[in-house]
Amino acid sequence: MTPEEEHDLVYKASRSGLGGCCEWQNDRILESDKWICGTCGKRAMSAVERAYETTIEHDGVEYKLSLPALRVHECSSCGAVTLDDDANREVSDALRSAAGLLSPTQIRDGQEALGLSQKQLADFLKVGEHTLARWEKGVQIQQMAHDMLVRAFFDLPALREYLGWMPVASAQPRKAQAG
Ligand SMILES: [Zn+2]
Repeated sequence: MTPEEEHDLVYKASRSGLGGCCEWQNDRILESDKWICGTCGKRAMSAVERAYETTIEHDGVEYKLSLPALRVHECSSCGAVTLDDDANREVSDALRSAAGLLSPTQIRDGQEALGLSQKQLADFLKVGEHTLARWEKGVQIQQMAHDMLVRAFFDLPALREYLGWMPVASAQPRKAQAG
C-alpha cells in the first residue's frame, strides 16, 4: 500500500467517523468545498455570512432591501457573490415583508382554515392552481392586486359568498356520520 492509499483510507475512515483526522485532511476538505467562480474562473467561491443589500422592483415599485446576515457564496479573488435557493428565499421573504404581502405560510394557513383544497381556493380566486402552489411554496411573489384579493377572501365572508362560496355544512354531518 502506498502512503497515498494509506492516507486515503484514513481520510475515508475520518469522514465516516471511524478514525482520527489530521490538519492536512482538514485543509483538503475545506479546499474541496470551494467552488469555481463563474465570473473569474478561479476556485475561490465559498460560503460566507455577510450583510447583503439589494434593490428589487415588484409591481412597479422599487424596494431597497437590507439583510444584516445572509449566507451567500463569495469569491475571495474577484468579490463576485451568488445566492443559492435558501438565500433567494430569504431575499423573497424580505421583499414580501417590505411590500406588506402575505407570506407563503399565511396563504397556506388561510386556505386550511377555510377547509379548502389548493384547487378549490385557486378556482375561487380565478388563478391557476399552479400559480397558487408557487405562492404557497414561496417561489413566486404574488402581485399586490392578487394579495388584496386573497386577504379579502380570507377575511370577508360576504366576499366569499359573492364569489360563489357555499358555507360548508359538510364538516358537521361528516363528524355525525363517523360517530
Ligand atoms: Zn471570482
